[in-house]
Amino acid sequence: MILFQDEKHALIGVFGSSNRKTGSMVQTWIMEKESLEGGFCEDCTSLELCYVFQGKNSIQKKLSRGGYEEVSIDLSKKRVRVGTYGDPSVFPLSVWKDLGIKKHTGYTHFWRLPHVQEYKSFLMASVETLESYHLAKQLGWRVFYNLLDVYVGLVSIEQVQSEINAIECPNVTHELTCYDCLLCDGSKRAKDIFIHPHGGKLSKKNALATIQKSKEQDQALIQALLLDQGSFQHA
Ligand code: SF4
Repeated sequence: MILFQDEKHALIGVFGSSNRKTGSMVQTWIMEKESLEGGFCEDCTSLELCYVFQGKNSIQKKLSRGGYEEVSIDLSKKRVRVGTYGDPSVFPLSVWKDLGIKKHTGYTHFWRLPHVQEYKSFLMASVETLESYHLAKQLGWRVFYNLLDVYVGLVSIEQVQSEINAIECPNVTHELTCYDCLLCDGSKRAKDIFIHPHGGKLSKKNALATIQKSKEQDQALIQALLLDQGSFQHA
């Protein structure tokens, strides 16, 4: 079903997920209507590593043939994975709030942008390096840190653990599903989360390409912060 749409993007909700990591959360696909790709995915630092394949073809096919109906729905009693595919910041925060979402997980790769700062109260900042971790903290985000720089040997796990205030994802340490854990909710006052890289597209080459993009975006952010007139100050 379509939970919301505008001219360019559709927000598709899928119920009854059998995803082993997330559990039976409502999955939300943020799709660009013309390309049938995830919203903002082409500019994502982690594009080379993205492992969202399962179900993508069927979502694309159904969307292209107009197979989804738009419905008005209250998600306040559901547990929602905000942004199964595509970045949640495609839509204004009010779109997600109007759906009544109370229990959720969600991440943005676009945490460096001024207009995405309002999502701090809703999403985690998704980062891949220690430098990005510190920048996201400087901006006030809770952080989900995929340890790519550790994976390629740029920093040691000991250094990371001495500099961050985070726990390892309980799906790894305790086999909790996201449905039961719900720690990846930007509004929670809790430690940050780290995870060791995984997924079918993980390789040194892809990890290094992702780190390079992160570095470039970090540099752009540092420049923007130097010139900032207050646009990064949203709660
Ligand atoms: S910390 Fe919890 S909510 Fe976040 S990815 Fe791990 S299991 Fe899921």
